[in-house]
Amino acid sequence: MSQEFNITVLPGDGIGPEVIREAVKILRIVEAKKNLKLHLTEAPAGGAAYDATGHPLPEATLNTAKEADAVLLGAVGGPKWETLDFALRPERALLGLRSNLGLFANLRPAKIFAPLVEASTLKPDVVEGLDIMVVRELTGGIYFGEPRGVETLADGSRRGINTLVYTDSEIERIAKVAFDVARKRGKNVCSVDKANVLECTGLWREVVTETHEDYQDITLSHMYVDNCAMQLVRNPKQFDVIVTTNMFGDILSDQASMLTGSIGMLPSASLGGKNAMYEPIHGSAPDIAGKDIANPLAAILSVGMMFKYSLNLEDINVVLEKVVDEVLKQGYRTGDILSKGMKEVGCIAMGDRVAEELEKRLS
Ligand code: NAD
Repeated sequence: MSQEFNITVLPGDGIGPEVIREAVKILRIVEAKKNLKLHLTEAPAGGAAYDATGHPLPEATLNTAKEADAVLLGAVGGPKWETLDFALRPERALLGLRSNLGLFANLRPAKIFAPLVEASTLKPDVVEGLDIMVVRELTGGIYFGEPRGVETLADGSRRGINTLVYTDSEIERIAKVAFDVARKRGKNVCSVDKANVLECTGLWREVVTETHEDYQDITLSHMYVDNCAMQLVRNPKQFDVIVTTNMFGDILSDQASMLTGSIGMLPSASLGGKNAMYEPIHGSAPDIAGKDIANPLAAILSVGMMFKYSLNLEDINVVLEKVVDEVLKQGYRTGDILSKGMKEVGCIAMGDRVAEELEKRLS
């Protein structure tokens, strides 16, 4: 009997639909080769949803996401919607999905593919073999804390406020995810905070340390975020798993992504609820949308993470990573990772190359 899964597909805006089309190609190949039944339901999210329904995360989209085994998202946002009220901006769809699905843990691997060592802006010996997992807290911290907003004071001047807030249970659950992830990797966790200045992250350090008592097989270290930003470019291979707050994780994972050559290479998984959401870490890249030049590999590798974490087919993720490595070894490159002597291909052609190699490997 074939295994059946419901997957909600949210292409979103800009290059979102382009990279998701390639990711869906991969889903369909695995479905056929592994005798699965994948029920894909496409729904609007972000600016596309605002245009169609007046809201970036329509009720119907949220409901299909809630009912699915997994959600695949492209990217949302773009200049067209930048003047909208914050509550209606495309990016609200992301926050709405994360909070409604209870996705409090964001896993962002920054792994370098050997053929791309030269594409990094750092020296080859600094990045060769790099394999970091950033575990970012996703539903708390300063992005959600109250009070927030901009107020006008009695003298007519304005004051902007955001609030950094974490409870001990929020810290404990993300620390557990990080230790569990580390157990299947290099058994090293570095917790990143700013405990010397921010009381809230002082509590973060305390709770992570307490939680570690149940994980004595894992080595735990602590680092201030400014030092971590520096160490990531000085000696990134010292890290295995980094666990940190929502905002620090947002920034550090983008920094880690550039070590690997391009933001167009990196997938992510958001876990913690009944189901999970998978998306490339890049945005909607309005500057290159509609030109068939986006790199679809981050979206394709996000499908790999979906097989690993939601569909219990970890081997597919392993095969997919090998296939991407092989296609890069053959010299195929999208513009963002292009170097001298390589064969430049567009988004569709890169998807086709991966699809062909995958078909061969799975047959
Ligand atoms: P971005 O990630 O969209 O683009 C940054 C740069 O990287 C651009 O030069 C872009 O062309 C390039 N790039 C990104 N993905 C690429 C790919 N797959 N292949 C080749 N090049 C790629 O970030 P931005 O420009 O800061 O944001 C653009 C829009 O996306 C904004 O509206 C922002 O709010 C939104 N955004 C959405 C998400 C998301 O949906 N998860 C994440 C970040 C930004």
